[in-house]
Amino acid sequence: MIHPARRIDDINAGRWHGLPRHRSDFPKQTPFIKMNAMTRQPTEGYRGRVAPTPSGYLHMGHGATFWEAQERVRARDGILVFRMEDLDPVRSTPHFIQAALEDLRWFGLRWDEGPEEGGAYGPYLQSARTGRYRAVLEQLIEQRWVYPCFCSRKDIQSAAVAPHVGDEGPIYPGTCRHRPTGPVPAGSRRPCWRMKVPRGRKIGFVDGRHGAVSYTAGVDFGDFVVWRQDDVASYQLAVTVDDHFMGITEVVRGEDLLVSTCRQLLLYEAMGWKPPRFVHCPLLRNREGERIAKRANALSLRDYRDGGWTPRKLRDAVGAEGKSPSLELG
Ligand SMILES: [Zn+2]
Repeated sequence: MIHPARRIDDINAGRWHGLPRHRSDFPKQTPFIKMNAMTRQPTEGYRGRVAPTPSGYLHMGHGATFWEAQERVRARDGILVFRMEDLDPVRSTPHFIQAALEDLRWFGLRWDEGPEEGGAYGPYLQSARTGRYRAVLEQLIEQRWVYPCFCSRKDIQSAAVAPHVGDEGPIYPGTCRHRPTGPVPAGSRRPCWRMKVPRGRKIGFVDGRHGAVSYTAGVDFGDFVVWRQDDVASYQLAVTVDDHFMGITEVVRGEDLLVSTCRQLLLYEAMGWKPPRFVHCPLLRNREGERIAKRANALSLRDYRDGGWTPRKLRDAVGAEGKSPSLELG
């Protein structure tokens, strides 16, 4: 078992394969030609990914983060993988899957492997990868990393007088954690499966943008769901399994997932896998300064397209202001 702090030591000791951010980080006397050689060498085999959830039209926040992922791949001569995170059987529709491919291509993204391109690490639709997730769940069950939970949302809400709220709602109070294993009583609802998190332990990593980040298991997040009650792998499990088996070396995504990275690091540790590097990008805001979110206040990429914007102009506007521009400026 590798303590996450070890990874920070590795990074401090120079066993970190990230790139210096600025050219001035290189020794001054290094000739320019060698700098190029240096920037390429440590990143051989770089694999990045864009992984949209097709439960609505993608907005400019997705566009900006995916663009960053693509830029990092290009700077390192890497491979960009497109993975469709269509696990939600109700909200992920064929219409939104097509729209995600179309809108990201329009925006200027080009990937090397994906649902339509294929590749050696497919399938690239999460809905077609259930067998892989189930095999990992079975391993986690066998090694007693996870336990079945029969609680309803209401049970969890009422288990504590004032439930501690994390980034994903109330932190699970642990009701089923010590339930004796044995036959499930007849008439029970189907359980979900939860990860036993090491309560009180700080889980840390070095983020490519934020530097050292750590959260405390049991305080900042609780025993999280790895397999949902509706018999679907959870986001946390699926994304970890996919990033591992797709050989992803660096994950670029929004900073709303910082805490989730600590959850996923526990899954990497349980499975004995080496985690990728992580870069969490700032979330885009709209003109009113609110975080933009799907289905709420966000203009979609296709709103801009239909409003006469070109992808170039849109990227420049976002780059200049750090905000999703208003439609009429196109
Ligand atoms: Zn429970």
